[in-house]
Amino acid sequence: MQIEDSFLPILIIRNGQIKSCNDMFSTLIGLTCLEIINIEINDLLHLDNNKNMINLDSLFDHSSPNEEGIFASGELVDCNFYHLKIELYCKKIADNEFKLCFKVIQNKAIDPISGLPNGWAMSARASHFFNTTNSTTPKMRLLVLSVDNFATINFRYGFDAGDNYLSVLGKKLQSILSESGLVVRLANARFGILIENKCRLSSVELNAYIINICEQLCNLSRGSLILNNGIKVNKSFSIGISAEHTEYDSYFSMEIAAETAMRESERQSNSQYCFAKAEMKPDLMTNKLIIDEFPNAIEKSLIKIHYQPQYEFENNKLVGFEALSRWMHKDLGYISPDVFIRIAEDIGLHFEFDLWVFTQVSHQIVQWREQHVYSPKIAINISFKTLEMTDFVVRLQSIIEHSGCPTNLLEIEVTETASISNMITLIDNVRAVKELGINIAIDDFGTGYSSLSLVRTLRSSLDTLKIDRSLVADICSSPLDREFARKVIGLGEVLEVKVLAEGVETLAQRDLLQELGCDYAQGYYFDKALTVKAAEKLIIKQRND
Ligand code: C2E
Ligand code: MG
Ligand code: MG
Repeated sequence: MQIEDSFLPILIIRNGQIKSCNDMFSTLIGLTCLEIINIEINDLLHLDNNKNMINLDSLFDHSSPNEEGIFASGELVDCNFYHLKIELYCKKIADNEFKLCFKVIQNKAIDPISGLPNGWAMSARASHFFNTTNSTTPKMRLLVLSVDNFATINFRYGFDAGDNYLSVLGKKLQSILSESGLVVRLANARFGILIENKCRLSSVELNAYIINICEQLCNLSRGSLILNNGIKVNKSFSIGISAEHTEYDSYFSMEIAAETAMRESERQSNSQYCFAKAEMKPDLMTNKLIIDEFPNAIEKSLIKIHYQPQYEFENNKLVGFEALSRWMHKDLGYISPDVFIRIAEDIGLHFEFDLWVFTQVSHQIVQWREQHVYSPKIAINISFKTLEMTDFVVRLQSIIEHSGCPTNLLEIEVTETASISNMITLIDNVRAVKELGINIAIDDFGTGYSSLSLVRTLRSSLDTLKIDRSLVADICSSPLDREFARKVIGLGEVLEVKVLAEGVETLAQRDLLQELGCDYAQGYYFDKALTVKAAEKLIIKQRND
């Protein structure tokens, strides 16, 4: 039968079997009309009220030709095995023959800026391959391509040009890949390319094929892309490639591996590609678990705050605590804050997490005071990335107002990290925090990150410099480290700030630091980070001594 031309995808069913379809339907499903004929309707279509099986005959039995059609809603499996939300209009056109017209009511799998499919489509397609037959032939590889310093296009030419660049680049990538891979826009200027091993190449052949594609992509980056308005843009790419799919147990671990390799290539130099190492798997799986469970751990307070005491050298008096987060995971065991803080930063949860810790500590101080337990000031670690957020101070103020915590009992510890993108906001924020009456400490001073220039910039707001424990470790055995510590303590005097030594583990270290003129210390020689109960006992004991 002749299928009328239509803007909607259409399928013709006869005797419960697919008989034909229009081009729209064939494009949506990614199969030719001939291929579609051999497909079971239940593999393609899932109706809402009849999730398991669709018996079209019984469903539409009661309607007769020329009668009003019947509506239903459900999901249609598209060319990437993504389940599109659809409305279905079904009309009987002859005995045992129906016309099904589909209206896509929600398609989250398309990126509106580039017009390409997005991560939903990629995840659906790759997950389908993971879930179907486990052959020894390598099935697929994932490439993640990131445009280096993409934001400069927005800054120089405006956001329209940025959007146009993404769309032009997307089309170029599709033309390079032609039929051999799915190209999606994952996020920002990050594209994913899923290469399917359609020719059933061996591992070596598939590798050679991928290297060829990567070379073409690098060549593309060496030329210019021309935007709608004639502007020529020249950008380098960083490309990461997953290991063989059998190294991963899911699409997500494969994507993390390709992204990690992409970051490695970003570090190396412009327009490079890096292959993921297969042995990264255990780490990746742990990271994936942590990413999945971190929000839940905050929400359900599975992360506990412990308090490491800080003492004054001169009189051994307790002068403060540092709040340190502790996460004991039911399967993974103890997860170091170094690990989950980095992940929180990667997934953009650092802001909420730091504010959560700040809230917990503020309330703890107030709760203790209500019980007549008067704690000294408590320091909270704040990620540099959090300090770059424009509404940081407003959120801090609201927490303080809500908890009623005296600000002089709070301190924030800042550590410089490798990437600072918003230095002006950061400096303004530190000054505003200081104006609230909160103390400011520079953490890990003397390591590669906490630099002299940061201290110089923030000097008028600073209260404490914390000497990193790596400098304290060999202070008794290495004259160089001793001199270094002496100089840092001297710098504290110049800046008129107190100096606290971290990681003090022995009496000899303690005595030497005191001799060098250091003000405060913290470390295992005194105490590890204590639970709330233990910290409370210590405060009470110190008061009574
Ligand atoms: P940090 O702020 O420099 O914290 C001091 C770290 O040194 C803590 O490790 C502490 O347990 C450890 N430490 C203390 N005394 C000694 C000692 O005598 N010897 C040795 N070897 N280590 C000692 P921890 O708790 O594993 O924290 C690691 C880092 O994670 C912290 O370094 C801090 O940067 C970050 N962090 C911890 N909790 C939080 C938090 O709630 N928020 C944020 N943003 N970062 C946190
Ligand atoms: Mg700290
Ligand atoms: Mg530190």
